[in-house]
Amino acid sequence: MASTIKANCRKVMCIGRNYAEHIAELNNARPKQPFFFLKPTSSILLPGQGPILRPKGVIMHYEVELGLVMGKTVRDLDPEDHKGALDAIDSYVLAIDMTARNVQDEAKRKGLPWAIGKGFDTFLPISERIAKSRIPDPHDAFLKLSIGDKLRQADSTGLMLFRIPRILADISRVMTLEPGDLVLTGTPKGVGEVKAGEVMKASIEVDGKEIKEGRIEVEVKDREGRYEFKET
Ligand code: MG
Repeated sequence: MASTIKANCRKVMCIGRNYAEHIAELNNARPKQPFFFLKPTSSILLPGQGPILRPKGVIMHYEVELGLVMGKTVRDLDPEDHKGALDAIDSYVLAIDMTARNVQDEAKRKGLPWAIGKGFDTFLPISERIAKSRIPDPHDAFLKLSIGDKLRQADSTGLMLFRIPRILADISRVMTLEPGDLVLTGTPKGVGEVKAGEVMKASIEVDGKEIKEGRIEVEVKDREGRYEFKET
């Protein structure tokens, strides 16, 4: 059940800029080493608990990503320990790293943190839990995201610049990964805006076959409330 993923999750760690063509589409620099940011667990949106809410004044982008649900405590992992890295994963989820792009762009320009741009409620829709055996090689799965009937993202996880052992090694030399933590592995090219009234669908395939528990289907609506984007 995805609800146990949220209940057991104490942090969500996300890698930025981990697919070359996505780096190019946002005119970002290719990192020499992985870099990370956190999303709050309160942003997790469970299957069937939509809609995603677009805050006022926000240009909201989708980023489909493979998520790792950690099963072990990992500290100071050796980046060459590929078996140790994969053994530390309990299961997978498909996730959409929703991003308030205009908020994030301002933060980048001004050297401010990304917490607001990445951290709104509902900004992390996830699928049901995907058993580890369903994805024999996490670097050989195919991610898809569509808005309405238009396919917007479709790429293999084989395109990750930094692979999972390196990602877990670099995170775990800074902060301990604990059972239940979620790690998002980055998004391929094709990110873009999604607006209120649109429906997003995301899916993951292995060997050309869709994994049904890895589906996400969620509507987008405008958010009520006090937040409105204003220049900082
Ligand atoms: Mg992302």
